[in-house]
Amino acid sequence: MSFTLDPLPFALDALEPYISKQTLEFHYGKHHQGYVDKLNGLLPGSGFENASLEEIIKTAEGGIFNNGAQVWNHTFYWNCLSPDSDNKPEGKLLESINDSFGSFEEFKEKFSNAAATLFGSGWAWLVKNEEGKLEIIQESNAGNPLREGKTPLLTCDVWEHAYYLDKQNKRPAYIEDFWKLADWKAVENRL
Ligand code: MN
Repeated sequence: MSFTLDPLPFALDALEPYISKQTLEFHYGKHHQGYVDKLNGLLPGSGFENASLEEIIKTAEGGIFNNGAQVWNHTFYWNCLSPDSDNKPEGKLLESINDSFGSFEEFKEKFSNAAATLFGSGWAWLVKNEEGKLEIIQESNAGNPLREGKTPLLTCDVWEHAYYLDKQNKRPAYIEDFWKLADWKAVENRL
């Protein structure tokens, strides 16, 4: 078995002016594709030939984990973004955010801070834990909360390749624009 790159859920230029077509050409077309290709190259003889990406994330180590998790993480990230985002959680999702973080504004501040302060490369996640409570977590490199039994709801890729062409070293400016694209309907459907 081999993995294929899922189609982007929007056109390459659909997230402009917040994320440029050029960034997506590299981030999706080169980086995400590269993780798929590297994973496929590592599978023969590994024991993971017939594993799902979720099984790889939960049990693999080394290159198979890193590339498999990056394939999953990026597909999930694209599906957290929408050119038609209405920018506001509602209903049960808003209640859960208020219960866990006080308010939507406090949640945004805490999540932005987690994304901005993550040292090096990685991902900021909003997850549902085993008790059904929401948490914000930082994961380095290819880290994925499925490995700790948590349900991913939203993620922000803070590897430099996600923003360097558009924002250079200004990660907080990228995070600010991330909020203009976050797809709260998709988050609600994962709750
Ligand atoms: Mn990335």
